[in-house]
Amino acid sequence: MIRAERLGKRYGVRPVLRGVSLEVARGEFVAVLGANGAGKTTLLRILATLVRPDTGTLSIGDVDALRQPQRVRQWVGLVSHQSLIYGDLTAAENLRFYGWLYGLRGEQLEARIEWALQRMNLWPRRNDRARTFSRGMMQRLTIARAILHDPPVLLLDEPFTGLDQSAAASLSALLHEAALEGRAVIMTTHEIHRGLEHLSRALILRDGQIVHEQRKDFSPQTLTALLHDDAHR
Ligand code: ATP
Repeated sequence: MIRAERLGKRYGVRPVLRGVSLEVARGEFVAVLGANGAGKTTLLRILATLVRPDTGTLSIGDVDALRQPQRVRQWVGLVSHQSLIYGDLTAAENLRFYGWLYGLRGEQLEARIEWALQRMNLWPRRNDRARTFSRGMMQRLTIARAILHDPPVLLLDEPFTGLDQSAAASLSALLHEAALEGRAVIMTTHEIHRGLEHLSRALILRDGQIVHEQRKDFSPQTLTALLHDDAHR
């Protein structure tokens, strides 16, 4: 579903990504782990077609995402550091607005709004303005926005930030389910203590390069050792 080859990106003279290649199929749930500044967010933003790489190729579905970014964007649900939520609108109004942008209308739109809010345990708060939400609730609403249009690709930048234990467990289950339903799911995360039990793979990014690919044993001990090795290599 996603195929990136030799992606390179510099900011000024500083190389941020150095020849990153990755392939993620439908049904896979992949985490990108790495220290601060390793390039995780930059990689995710390139995959979401929000940042253009200097070198390399990217296809999503079978479409060249660098040539036709508009076309592939509808297939991508993105959870980034910017929540893109309007504080003066209620939870349901926010989703109605984004649903419109995605071309959803009428009963189909209302059904998707209910599904997404129920899934993120926000249905009882649907008529409250988003600015009255706690950080974790805002994060859940951001995730509801990302899954609203049922995209085949989910990209999430540090999605566990701000979530309490129960919301984190619910997100972990949702991402697992999203992969089982045939989506390609990629997230960046610092959190090696939660949300990784259903992973298909973990990629370790260091200084803009993928230095390790872990296909099983996502225990905190193993991942800490990998990241630690990483830092002291
Ligand atoms: P963190 O875990 O801290 O979020 P990260 O692995 O996501 O880090 P990036 O945010 O991708 O890392 O940043 C990688 C490097 O690129 C950092 O050195 C950062 O300062 C630099 N960088 C990122 N965005 C820009 C930008 N727009 N302009 C200049 N430098 C940037």
